[in-house]
Amino acid sequence: MNILVINCGSSSLKFQLINAESEKLIAKGLCERIGIEGSMLTYTPDGGAKEETVTPMANHTDAIRLVLDALTNEKTGVVKSLDEISAVGHRIVHGGEKFAASTVINEEVMAAITECNDLAPLHNPANLIGINACKELMPNTPMVAVFDTAFHQTMPEKAYMYGLPYEYYDKYKIRRYGFHGTSHSYVSKRAAEVLGKKYEDLKIIVCHLGNGASVSAVQNGKCVDTSMGLTPLEGLIMGTRSGDIDPAIIEFIAHKENKSIDEVMAVLNKKSGVLGLSDNLSSDFRDLETGYREGNPRAINTMETFSYRVAKYIGAYTAAMNGVDVICFTAGVGENSAFVRTMICSQYLGYLGIKLDEEANAKRGEEIAISTPDSSTTVMVIPTNEELAIARETYRLTK
Ligand code: ADP
Repeated sequence: MNILVINCGSSSLKFQLINAESEKLIAKGLCERIGIEGSMLTYTPDGGAKEETVTPMANHTDAIRLVLDALTNEKTGVVKSLDEISAVGHRIVHGGEKFAASTVINEEVMAAITECNDLAPLHNPANLIGINACKELMPNTPMVAVFDTAFHQTMPEKAYMYGLPYEYYDKYKIRRYGFHGTSHSYVSKRAAEVLGKKYEDLKIIVCHLGNGASVSAVQNGKCVDTSMGLTPLEGLIMGTRSGDIDPAIIEFIAHKENKSIDEVMAVLNKKSGVLGLSDNLSSDFRDLETGYREGNPRAINTMETFSYRVAKYIGAYTAAMNGVDVICFTAGVGENSAFVRTMICSQYLGYLGIKLDEEANAKRGEEIAISTPDSSTTVMVIPTNEELAIARETYRLTK
């Protein structure tokens, strides 16, 4: 059974076709600049050459039509007909309080996702457009919604409430939701499997450090806290997002720079984080690492501020769970930067009895423990695979 996984953004669409039984990737790709001049489809069949096609895509339906054409193409396609695609799994960013688990998509589910649009105005409408486009082109293929927020719905009230008037929760459901849930769930489960321990017996902290970054505390198989909030802006310092700041800074900048709230929010989302902190050196950790090694003071300060924030969250979540057994690093930076992992673990986590195995820490792309066997807390690198997690959920609900 082949599952098409779709991650639909406002002008882009990532896809993977995965065989659900063998969990093998069959093909993957990306549509960029949908609805903008210069739209491009990148398509790579597993083991085959990457094809790039610049072709107009007026909307997401056009984009998905091109994806389906590529997958069924006589020469370079990977399936004979659309009948060989048994189900479609959609990544949905915000499920609000309505969705604590993945669900088969029907009219009622689509209406409920639409009701969450206010909570994720940049993401959910785009996700819905992707669902509608697939519905139009593959009307009889079952579809599943997998939510970024669902895994975090087990958080207790003390972790998800803000110190705001209760009426805002009542009226608008303002609370912590958390994101990257598919990744936090996948990585924490894999860590237990790799260690050969019961998921339900462990206290795990997952550090998902990518362009977007978040930390979560997973106790006995359930998420009990996470660093992103109502939106993905809270928590760690990210590629271009500020993470935690004093909320009064928003008013302060608005006055000083004569900016509207929307303009200040754009600064916090797109011009802050390690990009802003490094005085626009880069949002990419590879460049910052190079800058650090070359002695660039902005790069040094940025890397230290980033690592310090991660370490503080690890400390907070160790307190939240009254201990920690396993700390996992994942996503672009977490998986690839031994440098960042060393900065965090060696400087700040000695109190947890952690010693890094530098040889293991230098490896790439493996599910591996990077702490020494005598460390009282295990530190691991677990490469995330959100697409596979979505395919598994889709398979589970449609097989
Ligand atoms: P997202 O999915 O949030 O866009 P990713 O998880 O793909 O992000 O992470 C992207 C980031 O990973 C890049 O911005 C880059 O900073 C970082 N990254 C990728 N490779 C490396 C590397 N070898 N060393 C350090 N950082 C890396």
